Amino acid sequence: MRRLWFNSPILQQSAVLSRALSHLIENDSIKIYLAYDHPWWRDLGLEPGRSVSDGPLRQTIYLQEDPSGASLIMASYSFGRHAFHTFPSLESSPTEQAAGQLDGAIIREVTDALSDLHGITVPLPIDGRGVRWGDTTVGSDIPLWGPGVEPWKMTRELIAPLDRRRLFVCGDALSLNQGWVLGALQTTAHVLDLI
Ligand SMILES: Cc1cc2nc3c(=O)[nH]c(=O)nc-3n(C[C@H](O)[C@H](O)[C@H](O)COP(=O)(O)OP(=O)(O)OC[C@H]3O[C@@H](n4cnc5c(N)ncnc54)[C@H](O)[C@@H]3O)c2cc1C
Repeated sequence: MRRLWFNSPILQQSAVLSRALSHLIENDSIKIYLAYDHPWWRDLGLEPGRSVSDGPLRQTIYLQEDPSGASLIMASYSFGRHAFHTFPSLESSPTEQAAGQLDGAIIREVTDALSDLHGITVPLPIDGRGVRWGDTTVGSDIPLWGPGVEPWKMTRELIAPLDRRRLFVCGDALSLNQGWVLGALQTTAHVLDLI
């Protein structure tokens, strides 16, 4: 979004967009997937969905299991400097062959964190994959609003940033669901509402 703004003298005329972009912070992110032959979280009464914590895993996403019972959990989707420090040995560009396969040490570390989070001894997974993103040169960082910004108060001005021009901007970077395709779609829907 910044690149687009940087190349567009018209967009640069918008004070609100220019200010908003200066409040976006680029973030490293990590994702760790663990596969189990049994969805142990179901035994705790957990449904498919998401939990958020201030522990090392931050977000844990419980995915819908296969009818065979095989199941997958996204045991971390973390953003920010924290993500970078949590599992520093996570590969940032796994080869297709390695496909981000986690080594035993990381798997044990994540399993310990899951055990702390759920208050049980979580079994070791049958497989684990992970990746770390954080390369600004290819634009793989996640943009998040910085502290103190109230983006919900600017939604309309961000999408139609210039008063007298029928010029619209959409994308997850300016949304209330940054880091998700949903955010891009929501801002697109706002544009469609306006035109
Ligand atoms: C590492 C990573 C993992 C992610 N994982 C998920 C996930 O699991 N689930 C999920 O829902 N979302 C995920 N996302 C977020 C998702 O990728 C974004 O929300 C989505 O791509 C945003 O769409 P967009 O159209 O706003 O922007 P983009 O997809 O970034 O599209 C912007 C386009 O504009 C082009 N562009 C830039 N400048 C110019 C210019 N001057 N002229 C012409 N074109 C230009 C860019 O090349 C790009 O193609 C992830 C993002 C990252 C970085």
